[in-house]
Amino acid sequence: MSDPLFFAEHLPLAGERCVLAGDEAHHAGASRRLQVGDTLSLFDGRGGYGRARLVRAAARGRELELEVLERRDAPAPAPVHLACALPKGDRQSVLLDMATQLGMSRFTPLACERSVVAGAHGAARWRRICLEACKQSRRLHLPVIEAPAAPAEVAAAASGGVVLVAHPSGEPLRHVLDVPTAPVTLLVGPEGGFTEEEVTQAATLGATPVALGEAILRIETAAVAMLAAIQLSRS
Ligand code: SAM
Repeated sequence: MSDPLFFAEHLPLAGERCVLAGDEAHHAGASRRLQVGDTLSLFDGRGGYGRARLVRAAARGRELELEVLERRDAPAPAPVHLACALPKGDRQSVLLDMATQLGMSRFTPLACERSVVAGAHGAARWRRICLEACKQSRRLHLPVIEAPAAPAEVAAAASGGVVLVAHPSGEPLRHVLDVPTAPVTLLVGPEGGFTEEEVTQAATLGATPVALGEAILRIETAAVAMLAAIQLSRS
């Protein structure tokens, strides 16, 4: 079994030491019960990975001093930007957890005509959810969380990449899946759906409306289905 993975924003070179504090130290000490001499894995959310040994515990286990034994950097996977209307309540956690596992590299809460207002206040909680999903799935790149934006703004900013808008009357997703390494932007609408104007505007800016089958999916299901399809097409 591999070492447990912890987040260390500043990951030093092999042979150097660093301190794990706060929630990560608590998790390592109290939940995983790591002892001095045990090894663990670290990541910095930007592709940096290290193996380290616990050399000292201080402040009742809230500060753990680590010696880095091995250090490397993983290349960034092909980018996938998910711009998605926010589902309600706990479904946001489901969305971000699964999307991170499935390779989302960037997340924008989509401000649509029919969506609930997306505030930036959720960003810290969303980041924590993405962090836990990175650890669980051992993805070394933490998704970047952007400020809310309208569909046309997202489509306009995605110059050079493939932009797909999930819309039940679009063309089947499988027709446009041949995008192994191109940057991909996925737009998923709110409970009430995109307005035709939003879809037309995004299409004018180069986006392709795509359908995900006959069933009308929940927001998070549609997002996860698209991300899974992209992952499979790249694997
Ligand atoms: N009544 C809405 C409509 O017809 O668009 C349903 C909205 S659905 C709950 C939320 C979002 O998920 C949609 O705006 C769309 O982006 C995406 N979605 C759900 N099912 C889909 C499907 N079968 N094909 C394409 N997109 C879908």
